[in-house]
Amino acid sequence: MTNVNTRQPTASFDGPYYLSIGGKLAVADDSFEVINPATGAGLARAPAASIAQLDEAIAAARTAFRSWSALGYGERQRYLEAYADALDAHRDELARLLVLEQGKPLKTMAEPEVDQAISWIRQIAARRIPVEIVEETDSHVVELHHTPLGVIGAITPWNFPVLLALWKVAPALITGNTMVIKPSPFTPLTSLRFGQIAQSVLPPGVLSVVSGKDELGPHMTAHPEIAKISFTGSTATGKHVIRSAAGTMKRVTLELGGNDAAIVMPDADWEAIVPQLFWGAVGNSGQWCVGIKRLYVHRSFHAQFVDAFVAYAARQKMGDGLDPEVTVGPVQNRMQFDKVKGILEDIKAQGYKVVLGGDVDPDRPGYFIPVTVVDNPPENSLIVREEQFAPIVPIIAYDDIDDVVERANDSPYGLGGSVWGRDTQAAVAVANRLETGMVWVNEIHIQGVDIPFGGHKQSGLGTEHGDEGRRLFTNPKTILIRK
Ligand code: NAD
Repeated sequence: MTNVNTRQPTASFDGPYYLSIGGKLAVADDSFEVINPATGAGLARAPAASIAQLDEAIAAARTAFRSWSALGYGERQRYLEAYADALDAHRDELARLLVLEQGKPLKTMAEPEVDQAISWIRQIAARRIPVEIVEETDSHVVELHHTPLGVIGAITPWNFPVLLALWKVAPALITGNTMVIKPSPFTPLTSLRFGQIAQSVLPPGVLSVVSGKDELGPHMTAHPEIAKISFTGSTATGKHVIRSAAGTMKRVTLELGGNDAAIVMPDADWEAIVPQLFWGAVGNSGQWCVGIKRLYVHRSFHAQFVDAFVAYAARQKMGDGLDPEVTVGPVQNRMQFDKVKGILEDIKAQGYKVVLGGDVDPDRPGYFIPVTVVDNPPENSLIVREEQFAPIVPIIAYDDIDDVVERANDSPYGLGGSVWGRDTQAAVAVANRLETGMVWVNEIHIQGVDIPFGGHKQSGLGTEHGDEGRRLFTNPKTILIRK
């Protein structure tokens, strides 16, 4: 198992697409259609794995665990670096395929997503969890080891299908676990492709990718041979996962939904930050777990801010992500499109003030929601209370800091948030009061392998990234040795 195999996969990026199970590419008896959200037309057919094939992938991961976990960090690092190199060799094809199945713009979103994922693998490959001596006396020494858990089941969503999956692969594998990934049925193609690439460099069974229909997720979460589920998706599904995982006392990390508030303080240089706030809300067509979903702006400049935000928004081009001029793509799937159209209808029915967008072109193919700005909707409106996951931005006026903090915290979610102001100390004081897993101050969406990422309240359980996140792929094991 020590030789890194650099054989490249042979199938083309245009398909056909294969499952990867136990080191081999596999076809399935069944398949399902993957839609290009920019056209609404079929893009490719993805294999729908049977339950037996999922079981086979889990069994292969279990077998591979014995030898993979026995390797040292150094050898696993070599494999992961070889994997990053192999992905890099296919970087352009992966990014293009990501646009086709997800809809995001190529240059501003898809290429950075693939690049960040590859860089993440390289950086994590160099991280270690050393053995700690937690106590040493005349009579004994106590060591704390972090041993791998076994087979990790990864379940991923459709908004960042490459990055969110590889965020799980790198820490799971470097700490000695093996993994089976089940991608979202809306965006399985990039995962199938990077799974296929993995088979050319990693030992058989270390990383399998199994796409399929709705029954696969629950089967994974209940499976006795899976030690942990690393899940990213909605809060509603996260609750199913935790219930199902309880049967076998699986470890779970849940990265769930959010309704992040951005608070623009009374002293903010608000004109300068309009572009950052715009992209924080509308980047990836608003389909970002930590996207700005509620924008609270001090009343003293709220009206001018709305004008500047709308002027910036009006300069963007919406369309097919492969068009180099396009900066805003479609939403990813028909279900999301219909849900968002329902939110737009509610905004109209309630008579809220729409200062940009608001109307979906019924004749346009694809799932295009125009960038929409809603001026000061009430706190109890659907657009403020719910996670819209779309390029619809409510810009809400506030007068008082205590009041805006209370409104920001008045949510079952607690994923991220941001505070913007010239007086950094005052902004940090507000950040300290937000009930979330992450807050950015005069920044947005900076992430890093050593920066813990996770949700408070119903936005999640556990953490990804950072030492904390890596440790959650391990079992803390104490060894007491009598001298
Ligand atoms: P989703 O919950 O519908 O699906 C996520 C995954 O779970 C998919 O692979 C799906 O097939 C699978 N799944 C569905 N039912 C299942 C079940 N009963 N058991 C096991 N697996 C099941 O989420 P989505 O619509 O794909 O993604 C959007 C959501 O994800 C948003 O709420 C967003 O905020 C959230 N999200 C969170 C983060 C984060 O890091 N906190 C990141 C990205 C997205």
